Amino acid sequence: DFPEGPRTVRTNLHRHLTDPLTGVRNLGILAHVDAGKTTITERILYVTGATYKRGEVHDGTTVTDFDSQERDRGITIFAAAVSCVWDGHRINLIDTPGHVDFSDEVERSLRVLDGAIAVFDGVAGVEPQSESVWRQADRYGVPRIAFVNKLDRAGADLDTVVESIRERLRVATLVVQMPIGREDGFTGVVDLLRMRSVIWADGRDTFTEGPVPDDLRDEAHRRRRQLEEAVAELHPIALEEFCAESAISARTLAAALRDLTGTGEGLVVLCGSAYRNRGIEPLLDAAVSYLPSPLDVPAVRGVQDGAVQERAADPAAPFAALVFKVSSTATGRLTYLRVYSGTVQRGETVLDAGARRTERIGRILRVQAERHTEVDRAVAGDIVAVVGLKAARTGATLCVPSAPLVFEPPAAADPVVSVA
Ligand code: GDP
Repeated sequence: DFPEGPRTVRTNLHRHLTDPLTGVRNLGILAHVDAGKTTITERILYVTGATYKRGEVHDGTTVTDFDSQERDRGITIFAAAVSCVWDGHRINLIDTPGHVDFSDEVERSLRVLDGAIAVFDGVAGVEPQSESVWRQADRYGVPRIAFVNKLDRAGADLDTVVESIRERLRVATLVVQMPIGREDGFTGVVDLLRMRSVIWADGRDTFTEGPVPDDLRDEAHRRRRQLEEAVAELHPIALEEFCAESAISARTLAAALRDLTGTGEGLVVLCGSAYRNRGIEPLLDAAVSYLPSPLDVPAVRGVQDGAVQERAADPAAPFAALVFKVSSTATGRLTYLRVYSGTVQRGETVLDAGARRTERIGRILRVQAERHTEVDRAVAGDIVAVVGLKAARTGATLCVPSAPLVFEPPAAADPVVSVA
């Protein structure tokens, strides 16, 4: 039950401190303009309960439309990052511009996310912009899964899109779902790991889960076999099981998919339609299963006293954070931080190491769809917005004054975030 309008809620400090870092996912949605990023984001917030009503892009009520919301309500609800909770995980969705024109902004957001969902249009497949954003994500070593959207549209075809991904993005595709029905008649998916079907009967919110329908069983088995073969080709442990038995166990398959996502050797592909809320749930499941937590990504590097230092995602390490967006809102100047190491508290004085200036952290907010939640502190791995910083700019490193670190600017050959 979320109240109407903006609210600031004080939460139980203890709960946040005990949130294990392993449950955090800092994710972005990478998509060509029009592929459905806004609709998918909005559905994610809806099914995770961050928002109580469903908006529609076309009638102007979507809660993710930053401009109209900002105007109408005077608050930042579609912010540079928005938090929601799914299956015990906290997902921070970091906004990534869909336009190549905003290439700098794309790079900035790629810097602070640990994983991404790449969205493709089920009709258009890989488009020039999706390709350039994909290459940028490659440079930052961002682990990705793919979602082929709009399968309900006339002319949509999963296999054709998968082929375009394989050819144009040159990545091994690992398709984990099979669509049930086509275009208008697209009614659900078969989960090829569990060999279960989810069928949306009529509306968006009702669905039936069950065994694979009889008439689809042969095709589902053929596709499962294809998936196993593709995984076995890339993953030694899966290959072992593949050779020893007639099928790879769902558990090994899932573990292998996670590994291959982390190394970028394989791309897990899901499909669906943002017009079906329930279709977003398997996507969220896949995102938390396959994409990394802040603990799974390599330590970031910075320069301290002329020497390169690594900072791991450790709440006990000296505090260091990157400012990735500054926005002025009715709430005031909001400075979005990705905390890489250590802990920062409300009221603390921090150093903007590049500018050699200290600043005071005012309130610390977790931005949700319908409200801001105020927290007392932010720890390594967190993404928060801070009120009270007056001068820190996008790209600035904030740190404890006693350990003045400046994050290295990202370089193509030496990515700040890379996959082990
Ligand atoms: P964005 O530019 O990537 O943020 O895309 P939007 O979410 O704004 O979607 C672009 C258009 O496609 C809007 O008119 C949406 O209503 C529509 N759209 C989004 N998802 C789907 C889908 O799954 N099926 C169909 N048929 N249309 C969709």
